[in-house]
Amino acid sequence: MSTTPLGDARPRVVKVAVALPVPGTYSYTLPDELAARVEVGACVLVPFGRRSAVGYVVGLEAPAPAELELKPVQDLVGETPPLDPAMIEFLLWAADYYLAPPGEMIRAALPAGAFAQDSRRVRLLDRAARGRNAREQRLLEALLAAADGELSERSLRRQVGPLGGALVRLCERRAIERFEAAATPRVTVRREDTFALARTPTDEERRRLERAPRRAQVWARIAAAGGAPVALSALRELPRARAHAIALTRAGLLARGQRERLRDPFQGEPLPPHPAPVLHARQAEAVGALESALSRGGFAAFLLHGVTGSGKTEVYLRLIASARRSGRGAIVLVPEISLTPQLAARFRARFGDDVAVLHSGLTDGERYDAWRRLRAGGVGIALGARSAVFAPVRDLGVIVVDEEHDGSFKQEEGVRYHARDLALVRAQRAGALCVLGSATPSLESYHNATSAARLTLLELPERATPRPLPTVEVIDLRTHRPDRDGLLSAPLAVAIEDTLGAHEQVILFLNRRGFATFLLCRECGFALRCRDCSVTLTLHRARGAVVCHYCGAAAKRPDACPQCKAGRLAELGVGTERVEAALRERFPEARVGRLDRDTSSGPGLRRILSAMARRELDILVGTQMVTKGHDFPGVTLVGVVLADTGLHLPDFRAAERAFQLLEQVAGRAGRGSEPGRVLVQTYNPQHPAIACAARHDYFGFVRAELAARAELAYPPVARLVAVRIDGPDPTAVRRVAEALGQAVRNACARSGGAGLSVLGPAEAPIARIRGRTRWQLLLRGAARHALRAIAWQAVRDTRTPARVRVAVDVDPMSAL
Ligand code: ADP
Ligand code: ZN
Repeated sequence: MSTTPLGDARPRVVKVAVALPVPGTYSYTLPDELAARVEVGACVLVPFGRRSAVGYVVGLEAPAPAELELKPVQDLVGETPPLDPAMIEFLLWAADYYLAPPGEMIRAALPAGAFAQDSRRVRLLDRAARGRNAREQRLLEALLAAADGELSERSLRRQVGPLGGALVRLCERRAIERFEAAATPRVTVRREDTFALARTPTDEERRRLERAPRRAQVWARIAAAGGAPVALSALRELPRARAHAIALTRAGLLARGQRERLRDPFQGEPLPPHPAPVLHARQAEAVGALESALSRGGFAAFLLHGVTGSGKTEVYLRLIASARRSGRGAIVLVPEISLTPQLAARFRARFGDDVAVLHSGLTDGERYDAWRRLRAGGVGIALGARSAVFAPVRDLGVIVVDEEHDGSFKQEEGVRYHARDLALVRAQRAGALCVLGSATPSLESYHNATSAARLTLLELPERATPRPLPTVEVIDLRTHRPDRDGLLSAPLAVAIEDTLGAHEQVILFLNRRGFATFLLCRECGFALRCRDCSVTLTLHRARGAVVCHYCGAAAKRPDACPQCKAGRLAELGVGTERVEAALRERFPEARVGRLDRDTSSGPGLRRILSAMARRELDILVGTQMVTKGHDFPGVTLVGVVLADTGLHLPDFRAAERAFQLLEQVAGRAGRGSEPGRVLVQTYNPQHPAIACAARHDYFGFVRAELAARAELAYPPVARLVAVRIDGPDPTAVRRVAEALGQAVRNACARSGGAGLSVLGPAEAPIARIRGRTRWQLLLRGAARHALRAIAWQAVRDTRTPARVRVAVDVDPMSAL
């Protein structure tokens, strides 16, 4: 320890979570020049293997003598640590729980592009390699031309266009390799000039200013601030403000400075007023319970079960206002923020600039600025989708998870986590309140609020407006044959006509986009399928294309059957595009809009939603995007074109999801002054999900469904861990899956069973996606710790070739 001066107790070894898909943390020594500046949470550059990697300091310790052989940290990235120690601890907990690489978990919590994110790069291995198609060839040529035969994937894409499977295939042939490297941050802090009063002008200077009225205006505005710096952006409407201010600075009248300029996409956007209504009795009760828990302090968790339109949002607004009055911050998680601009508008109307709305349309720069505003405490409320659970809100008092049942809270790519579950843990660690709200709580939350008593149940059984919940009529398609398009039964068609006649609005829901969900040859029976995925291709008629909904591959619609070259292709399976076309034909006077992933990216989405809100549309057709929390008072009829679509998926949550969708879409009807009606077309009227939704019988449904889950030992009664195996070579994937299955079974046997059962390994229901064969293995049991330990052990002990990928999914949401 000769390098450590006597008496210097500073730790000289740091534990670093490297932002790469590697387990655990790594230790490094701290060189003297960095020793005083590195803290827990700091972002550093460290040597890793044959290269450098970005990592985050998760611990500081005194070195053990053996550790003096460690490699030193290379550099500190950014002066202030992006995360505080409490956040680091929370993220390490999450990484451990989800069996995720800690560095990747930490990176998931940071705004994209900031803090020297790693960048994916590609390196040429074989200079003599040739491409097997034009794209591969272009890719190889771009690399040959690059310095050191190396490029980032980003610039490769810029040069070559979409890379498709070319990267993967060339990697497999060992012509190239992919790796990650530290890059300089793409996002930087933006600064702007400020000017402040330096001294009072002399009489002579005053006379000169009088002769230059424009300059005098700039002077007057800055002088009015009484010595406080005024940003140039605040003087935007004055002509040539900058030139005048600089001239005044040269004359010694003003002092020039600089400050950070925060990008705010809402800047200057007017706020429609949204006055707080008088709470109805049940709302007041709920708010009372929440406020007293808040003032008691410490962690508490609630399930706010309120029917659609019962005023849950108002409860959140009141609770957050309370928290803000005592200086505490709040996080509000919503499923898809861009889908519900009304909700963001309500928060902004109530809290103004104290809300940072984190939606997917933000640029990296805007996101980074919102993040820094929250961290600095300038803004106290973060509103956003799942990743907002990591928002650096100061002195966190409340986390709300609205529509907590929604599947979008589960992150399914990279680090897999569930934002609702993490919200509970974060609130617990922060001594904050967590409120889960929904009209159709997930079975997990219902279970936690009843048998497990982990959540306090608050109920809003009635709507906030005088209108009751809409009546739901089930139309049995076995007796009411739909019209020749296979779309509308007579009762639904009549109901639409009546609603249009009364100048009210209609929502039609069908959970499949496109025109026809498959093309089938009438001669030979051939169905058009994706080359890389085991699904049929969907016809998108307006594009004249057949598209794979899993990998996005698109091709021109063939005229004749590709197999027998003769037969005509029948368009089967209805999608939203077909519903829209049929409605236009049948109701030529009606203004019809469509809301699905094809019509609604970015500005298109806002346009359709606001047209609907302004009643410039009579009928809105859409996928589950129409079921989300929209509040369109003009809608009095909701039609479900086919309730059966998701019912028979080979997934234990299929019924729960079907029920939630039906109840949510029904909740869009009758929110204004006129009562609502819901018509549900189905071939399975007796199915509990449909029958219970028709009666708005949430409790009936969950009781029946919980009993079924208990019988099969599925969540929430038991816990699941899924191990997913995929890769391009079916045999290799199967071998790894079988080896993992054996390892898991052995581990179970060693632990004496421990009430654990193993399902599979088996091919996944969708056996191939993007050219990769998929297998899975499910571990099921009551003791979640044992489940995770066994899964982890098996994955570590099983040899996996580089081309096979193994991912552990703790608490999986789907088994497809
Ligand atoms: P939820 O979030 O439960 O779907 P909202 O909070 O959106 O319900 O409320 C539904 C509608 O009722 C909104 O238009 C809202 O402005 C209105 N509302 C909520 N609470 C009250 C109240 N106490 N008095 C009158 N209107 C209310
Ligand atoms: Zn595909």
